[in-house]
Amino acid sequence: MKNNINALKQPLVLIVDDTIENLQVLGSILKAENYKVAVATGGNQAIAIANEINPDLVLLDVMMPDVNGFETCKNLKSIPTTKEIPVIFLTAKVENDDIIKGFKMGAVDYITKPFNSYELKARVKTHVELKISRDLLKEKNELLEKLSTKDGLTGLYNYRYSTDALARLIEENSRYGQPLSIAMFDIDDFKKINDSYGHLFGDGVLVKIASMIENSLRKTDIAGRYGGEEFIILYAHTALEGAVESTKRIIENTQKLKWNDKSLKITMSAGVCQRKDEDISALIRKADSLLYAAKKKGKNTAEF
Ligand SMILES: [Mg+2]
Repeated sequence: MKNNINALKQPLVLIVDDTIENLQVLGSILKAENYKVAVATGGNQAIAIANEINPDLVLLDVMMPDVNGFETCKNLKSIPTTKEIPVIFLTAKVENDDIIKGFKMGAVDYITKPFNSYELKARVKTHVELKISRDLLKEKNELLEKLSTKDGLTGLYNYRYSTDALARLIEENSRYGQPLSIAMFDIDDFKKINDSYGHLFGDGVLVKIASMIENSLRKTDIAGRYGGEEFIILYAHTALEGAVESTKRIIENTQKLKWNDKSLKITMSAGVCQRKDEDISALIRKADSLLYAAKKKGKNTAEF
């Protein structure tokens, strides 16, 4: 929530200039506007500081002795942790070519020296506000994604929810000892189906199979879309025998599904196992390798 705090507190601006006097003038203008200010006197130092303090904006001098402003901007834009920070060039160069070069390096704006302090304040304010709203939006989207539990296409649980649920069931299984089984399913030759009938049809296959899976399960079973055409089913309080029975029923129900092209047969393979003392990744690996064995056996079958 770092950026929220920035929004409530003072935005932070990093000023980069090799002339100390410029740093002082710019710094006092911005401080008077309630910005927090950090300074650097060269390109490499600017990159190191930006990485450390994550400023909301960089004011960047173009002409500097070691690494010039264009190079510095290019570097900032190539580093994942600093590439979202808006950069405004401060430049005595006013040739069109230089301005274009600045924008090409990823700057959002430029201010020519000697600068007008009103113009400076207005431009800094605009870009800091944009940056902060972008950060807030990104945070909200991340939160929404975290809160969402369903896969958008099939309506089954998504990967995140399924693995979280499995982690909880494993803990419960370790504590109380009631059996826990899982099955990993994969639609056979799904790539071929997509290639021959198109991705829209492929999406329809996923939706139809997902709904068949849901209808084939008990209320306490958890079905998730694990990957592209891969599904995971968590059988809480169920020993291997029960899980195998359910898995076989799903494989049979898949064969019975009707498609527009009457000659088309779509099948699934599965790997089923009961937990002994595996952790989550070992348990999933176990189901996955059984699934792989089912594929090797000729598909349309379950291995356990
Ligand atoms: Mg300079």
